[in-house]
Amino acid sequence: MAEASKQDLIVGVDLGGTKILAGVFTSQLKLLQTAKLTTKADRGFSSVVERIARCVLDAVDEADTSVKHVRAVGIGAPGAVDPTEGEVIFAPNLKWEKAPLKAELEKRLGVPVFAENDCNVCTLGVHEVEFKGKPRELLGIFLGTGIGAGLIIDGKLYGGFNRTAGEVGHMVLEVNGPKCGCGNQGCFEALASRIAIFREISKRIKDGGKTILTDKLVENVIEEAAEYTGIAIANLVNILSPEVVVLGGGIMDALEDEMLSIIVETAHDYAMPGTMKDVEIVASKLGDHAGITGAAVLARQHAKGS
Ligand SMILES: [Zn+2]
Repeated sequence: MAEASKQDLIVGVDLGGTKILAGVFTSQLKLLQTAKLTTKADRGFSSVVERIARCVLDAVDEADTSVKHVRAVGIGAPGAVDPTEGEVIFAPNLKWEKAPLKAELEKRLGVPVFAENDCNVCTLGVHEVEFKGKPRELLGIFLGTGIGAGLIIDGKLYGGFNRTAGEVGHMVLEVNGPKCGCGNQGCFEALASRIAIFREISKRIKDGGKTILTDKLVENVIEEAAEYTGIAIANLVNILSPEVVVLGGGIMDALEDEMLSIIVETAHDYAMPGTMKDVEIVASKLGDHAGITGAAVLARQHAKGS
């Protein structure tokens, strides 16, 4: 690689409750190298920041370059993030409150750092890299341990008044449904996340589901999760009228074949007539790299002109 282009590298970081993934990208968002480290959230904020910095430096080293060639670092964190201050306001999985992620990471790396909510970051990545920034209105929904989303409205990431827009996981779909981590009942997340799927399978086995084929039981639970996802999408399409709905996250990556067609069919059944015209509902192809790609997009947007 020519020395000139080395000056302009970007690092994207996907910070999760259990692992940290860092990717080194060119300014054209070509992925050069990745590195992975466990989060060890129980060791506390300072220790996790130190591990993020180490993961970034590992990725940079694997790419045969050095951090002085890195123009900016972007990071997606699992929780509510104030993107202006780069502060994690609340991240239950990490047990963080008012954590100055940007400031502490900048101290350790000596490079500008930009932070955002992880689902917002994934949506940015999908919009910019997978869809080449074309759709003006795009909704990204990520099904994993929990459920989150990001909104692109008028071509830009939409944060809303409190910068908390996109909490679709806590849209109530069954008023008398199962309890959710947020304290409510019947949230989308309590019905269709990985935790919800596992809980429902073990509940049905306990309730005597052993008498029927367990495979069939698992299939039924996954089908129901797909139906709830379709209903959630119908609600969101009625409200937002996106051009594209992109689905990602661990559940989607693993169960696209089992879930996507049911999701699309249910969304069409429940949406108001006319609202689904030409709306694309697709699975993201970025998989595990959506987070680092989006974090790189975030860093590139902010670093432009700096
Ligand atoms: Zn909830």
